[in-house]
Amino acid sequence: MLYIVYFIHRTTIYSKIEPLRIIGYIIQLTTILNTTQKFTCTMSLSVSAPSIDNICANCGKGEENCSKLQKCGACLSVKYCSRECQATHRPQHKQDCKKRAAELYDEKLFKEVEPEDCPLCMLPIPYESGTATFKSCCGKIICNGCIHAMVMSSEGEGQSCAFCRTPPVMSTDDEIERAKKLMDKDNGEAFNFLAGLHDQGIGFLQDNKKACEMWLKAGELGSAKGYYNLAYSYGQGRGVEMDQKKAKHYFELAAMCGDVSARFNLGCMEYEVGSYERAYKHFLLAAKAGDKDSLGNLKTGYKLGFVTKDEYATTLRVYHERQKEMKSDMRDKAVASDMFDYD
Ligand SMILES: [Zn+2]
Ligand SMILES: [Zn+2]
Ligand SMILES: [Zn+2]
Ligand SMILES: [Zn+2]
Repeated sequence: MLYIVYFIHRTTIYSKIEPLRIIGYIIQLTTILNTTQKFTCTMSLSVSAPSIDNICANCGKGEENCSKLQKCGACLSVKYCSRECQATHRPQHKQDCKKRAAELYDEKLFKEVEPEDCPLCMLPIPYESGTATFKSCCGKIICNGCIHAMVMSSEGEGQSCAFCRTPPVMSTDDEIERAKKLMDKDNGEAFNFLAGLHDQGIGFLQDNKKACEMWLKAGELGSAKGYYNLAYSYGQGRGVEMDQKKAKHYFELAAMCGDVSARFNLGCMEYEVGSYERAYKHFLLAAKAGDKDSLGNLKTGYKLGFVTKDEYATTLRVYHERQKEMKSDMRDKAVASDMFDYD
């Protein structure tokens, strides 16, 4: 029976923040500010949307005088009666447009994402590596607790998929054939899965470039892991030219799809370049989603005055709640067994 690990590059690639280094940064900051005021990061996550008038921002024509006013696609905060009006208004609008578009992007980036539940036990799937398995029969991601329970429940039949009861495949080739059928139906997780096989050279000749192309497609089809793996590849220059900007971009897309490790990495990346407010926003959200390393960084941030007492206390409570939600007897048994490959 095959258990090819679903998460390929699940390990985080950036380190924890060392308290001493934070102190170093604070000294720099207070020197720059030349003041005794405490540098505290505000965690306000919402940006208020401006009201949008129902007139062309350039000529002032209302809806009654033209067939349809079209919103500016970048900022969604002004409307135009025609392409000509939009072009004429551009020089005047450009700066506000960019600012508002960036706000809209951040609203999406710093939004809490509900975790995916296992379709069988309905508990949130833990985000750590190797805690769930992609099933090439039905395309579902099942927590290892449920798979372990199914295998243990009965002889023979227990080998079937815990979700759809399809008998197991007997070879990697069969597994690939099944995954390909799911890809024909635009299943993003199937793309992520097969990309991983290309990356590792399992069932195919190793082809990192092809893996990256497939991870991009996986991400576009909604697989957070697809974007995560692509980001990782850009960070490492694996199958694509090394590009930290693109790595960050794809980590952001992965985080928007709910990937917690991507968010932790983003926190570290923002921290590295001195964007402390953004860094702690990421750590706060990742800690709320149950990430221990992010919670550790947040604790350090609290001790040093980057994070308020309330923010830390609330996050700590939510962190423990999430940890509890993700735990189950069946999952503990799966971890204790040697059925799955944990790294
Ligand atoms: Zn107009
Ligand atoms: Zn605009
Ligand atoms: Zn489950
Ligand atoms: Zn299945």
